[in-house]
Amino acid sequence: MNLEKGNLLYRGKAKDIYQTDQQEQVIVKFRDDITAGDGEKKEVMGLKGYYNSLISAKLFTILENAGIKTQFIDLPEPGFMLSHKLEMIPLEVITRNIAAGSLLKRFPFQEGQNFNPPIIQMDFKNDEYHDPMLNDDIILALGLATSDELEIIRKITIKINDVLKNFLETRGLLFPDFKIEFGRDCDDNIVLGDEISPDTCRFWDRETKDILDKDLFRKGESGVIEAYQKVANMILDEEDKKKWSLNF
Ligand code: UDP
Repeated sequence: MNLEKGNLLYRGKAKDIYQTDQQEQVIVKFRDDITAGDGEKKEVMGLKGYYNSLISAKLFTILENAGIKTQFIDLPEPGFMLSHKLEMIPLEVITRNIAAGSLLKRFPFQEGQNFNPPIIQMDFKNDEYHDPMLNDDIILALGLATSDELEIIRKITIKINDVLKNFLETRGLLFPDFKIEFGRDCDDNIVLGDEISPDTCRFWDRETKDILDKDLFRKGESGVIEAYQKVANMILDEEDKKKWSLNF
């Protein structure tokens, strides 16, 4: 696709956003850069953008089919997602079904402890302040979102968790936690944006409990891209694989 013509709107740590000839549509390019620890640990991993775009497109489609508004319009080719343009809200909305990661460093939970109902945590998406955890009063005082928007975000997040957890379970995956981001569309609707991929979620093999996400990179272990490929293989349908000629 002919995208790299000076119409770059935003460059993040792992994705670029390009304007299209439609004012309210953008192309999200999934790059192969992989980072951890506020971007301190950095590498380029061939095919990561390819798999993340396929996984995100699949999960956004599952959510759309469940009636949840997402930015996803189409995946014209792996690596490039046609999306609705959103004004992003700088919140990292984290949902936790099983205790893992930073939560265990900060609070006396037991590793592997189940949360029912899930924990919803909101962090400030801001590298300068190292993404601190927020509460509603701080979100309102910073003007990041209104209380109505927060209520909507919470409601949608709970539904997203239910839909994805159930779907992933049928594909042999546990879903310990994940981070999502929301934005406002041109009519000020709250819409799910960003990505849902092994960069932003924990996925564990239900049988073996193998880690199949960015935690492998964070821990300096091998087999990162193989894990991303395995997630794609587990969640994509045969027709998706045929469409993209994927031979797993
Ligand atoms: N997460 C993310 N971006 C961040 C921080 C967290 O996508 O900047 C995701 C992470 O992949 C995991 C979940 O949010 O699925 C919870 O992460 P946690 O707070 O445990 O932090 P971590 O231990 O991953 O640094």
